[in-house]
Amino acid sequence: MDRFARLEEIDLDRLKADGVRALLLDADNTLGLWQDPAPSQGALRLVWEAKQAGFSLIIVSNAGAERLQPLSKALDIPFMPRCGKPLPFGLLRAARALGLSPRRCAMVGDQLLTDMPAAFLCGARRVLVDPLDTSREFGGTRINRRIERLLKRLFRL
Ligand SMILES: [Mg+2]
Repeated sequence: MDRFARLEEIDLDRLKADGVRALLLDADNTLGLWQDPAPSQGALRLVWEAKQAGFSLIIVSNAGAERLQPLSKALDIPFMPRCGKPLPFGLLRAARALGLSPRRCAMVGDQLLTDMPAAFLCGARRVLVDPLDTSREFGGTRINRRIERLLKRLFRL
């Protein structure tokens, strides 16, 4: 698993050299703040650079289409709603939509307990980034964050 504090720090050259051809991007607290329709500056920059470098891109989120449409439009990339992470099926659908094996994809997300297991289960590369802001989040996510903090401490992630 690769870990970066910010989206714009992700080493695209390294991913490319390792055979990765697509980025599967989580939405909430990765591309933008929770429920915010606008992407962060870091997201705009990463997406621009990844497009320049020839990566395919798709948003993979547990949220519904109405949440993802504005982000998708702002970044000009497609989206796969209701992915059901930590299960792998949504990511598998997304990889298939891009015409790639999941092994050619890197899952970029902020959650150790949903994004990373989904990637692991379908054989995608795992790229964990720090969440943009955890002060306002979905209730279930808040519980996951507590477990996440504990795991990060225990395993020095
Ligand atoms: Mg997230």
